[in-house]
Amino acid sequence: MPPGLALTFGKSIDSGLNLNYNQKKETFKDLKVDLMIDAYEQTYDTEIKNTLLTEDDDPKKTREQGIKLIKEYHKNISPTVQPLQVQEKIEVDFEDFDYKLLVVPDLITIEENIIDNKTSSHSPPQENGIYRPSSFEHYLQLVADNFAFLSKYKKESENLRIDYLVKTKTPKVVTVNFKPQKEDNVFFLNILGRIADAIKNNIFYPNRNCMTCSYKFCGYAKLCEAQFGGKVKEK
Ligand code: SF4
Repeated sequence: MPPGLALTFGKSIDSGLNLNYNQKKETFKDLKVDLMIDAYEQTYDTEIKNTLLTEDDDPKKTREQGIKLIKEYHKNISPTVQPLQVQEKIEVDFEDFDYKLLVVPDLITIEENIIDNKTSSHSPPQENGIYRPSSFEHYLQLVADNFAFLSKYKKESENLRIDYLVKTKTPKVVTVNFKPQKEDNVFFLNILGRIADAIKNNIFYPNRNCMTCSYKFCGYAKLCEAQFGGKVKEK
């Protein structure tokens, strides 16, 4: 199933960022921004050919927004991040059930912080002037990052963070810092336990509430409607 434009965009931005961070692990220096833009454009131009576009999508405009975002990121965020690991796969074992959880944080820094990068078309919400994760899925990902860190370093992480690359008219990067509390970990483990039970019992149900549930983001939308009925939203 072909991905939608949002996935292609996110993957292309990752190419630019990762090209820089993979070499920065050794050199401690950022690449010139043009090299990051080249990597972004190459991925975008390849992937866009296999992308499922809707009539609202404007792939040319999106491509330009990505270039501006890479410039913004390179100027304001890259100099502050020194990676130790880039997209390292961390397997997390849990005592009480049979499945491992695979977590792939975008970055672990030399200060042992975890950072995930996300692209978004809107700024994350604020609560009392503090930015919060954009969605329930992003919140869960941060808690999963916490378990990954605990598994790798045998201690709690000092800081978990998502950097949102926001493609508003003036592209910007918004940082959300998050420190999971005990109740977040308990909630996550309960969700995980229910999912493990569902897998064991072959119970699969469509989650039409999820942020990526739409024809725009999910390549399985048509099949899902055919199997489960109902109506998947367009975007
Ligand atoms: S369309 Fe179906 S498979 Fe796709 S996200 Fe929605 S519920 Fe899940």
